[in-house]
Amino acid sequence: MSANQFSKDYLVVAQNASGRNMKVPLYRFKGAKPGPKVYIQSSIHGAEVQGNVVIYHLIQTLQKQPICGEITLVPNCNPVGTNIKAGEYTLGRFDPVNGTNWNRGYYFDPDNVDAFAKRVGPDESLTQIKARFRDNIKTQIDERLNSTWGLGLAQQLNLKLQQLAFDADIVIDLHNGPVSTRHIYVPEYAKAAASLFNIPHVILIPNTFAGALDEATFCPWWRLQDALSAKRGQTISLGVEAFTLEMGSQEVINFDEGRYDATSILSYLNARGCLQDANYQPDNIQRVAVYLKDYKILYTKQGGMVEYLARPGSRIKQGEPLAKVLNVDELENPRATDTILAPCDVIPILHFPSASVLSGTQLYKCFTHYFDLAEEA
Ligand SMILES: [Zn+2]
Repeated sequence: MSANQFSKDYLVVAQNASGRNMKVPLYRFKGAKPGPKVYIQSSIHGAEVQGNVVIYHLIQTLQKQPICGEITLVPNCNPVGTNIKAGEYTLGRFDPVNGTNWNRGYYFDPDNVDAFAKRVGPDESLTQIKARFRDNIKTQIDERLNSTWGLGLAQQLNLKLQQLAFDADIVIDLHNGPVSTRHIYVPEYAKAAASLFNIPHVILIPNTFAGALDEATFCPWWRLQDALSAKRGQTISLGVEAFTLEMGSQEVINFDEGRYDATSILSYLNARGCLQDANYQPDNIQRVAVYLKDYKILYTKQGGMVEYLARPGSRIKQGEPLAKVLNVDELENPRATDTILAPCDVIPILHFPSASVLSGTQLYKCFTHYFDLAEEA
């Protein structure tokens, strides 16, 4: 018998051309004891489906494991993106109507945060500030959703999900790379949290907003805690953390790997006091980190047919081959093949999924100037 209260609702996030509502399920667990509020979603990019299996395993556990606080899980949060197929592939990255990336339409306005920080009274407690800030941001999001001029498909869907996510102290957005090894985006101020997940590759991101859900969560809180720290002359932490987890390749469901990633998330949640009397601990693995500026994209200069030689997660020295390219216009002569070499020492994290590439394709994304997270800390 679980001590958790369980409920299941649906949220309308879009409507198709027949005027039918497109809904996503919201699974909610509420513990008997107080604790952090957690929000976990998956598949905002429609081809990145592995997070749904991770959420399945989390729900299996949460049906038995008593929690402190609340955990909301939203699998397959983008029913539009998952259903856009072209032949064998899912075209899940962009809103097909407006061309915008499905993970770039969340709300953040630094001026609003600054104005809010100015109005915080000297005696106001952190609990009061947090509650009022949540109301403020959710009102801002509401105003945008109700704008007379409307919003694009992706932005509407993003803001409806953000309304839920902004209530949480912990936000976890589950993604996959094209062909990819496990990696995680962690805000620099929450670097210590990176060691609580079983994810060997860590990208530390600064307080800049590019439109993604993790940034839309931590940027406002980070900016507010910096402003309050300056105002009150002491270090203030508002205790909100947000992460993007990239768990291997898109277009793949793997139940065993999903169980591993669910256990990794449970280790983090356990360390943050979300679980009652649980025994989940992070594995003792090596974690390698980069700052975002050192997470480099290697674009192709020419088009061609590619064999990917460097496996995601492997260590490649400067000058060693990453990929071999076949040029069908030169098959009888020495220009038939080209080798693309690593520009410096790298760890390839992901590569393009298809063997046929145009010029200007993001062929690999690589860690450069990487370091051992434990040694840096
Ligand atoms: Zn993604």
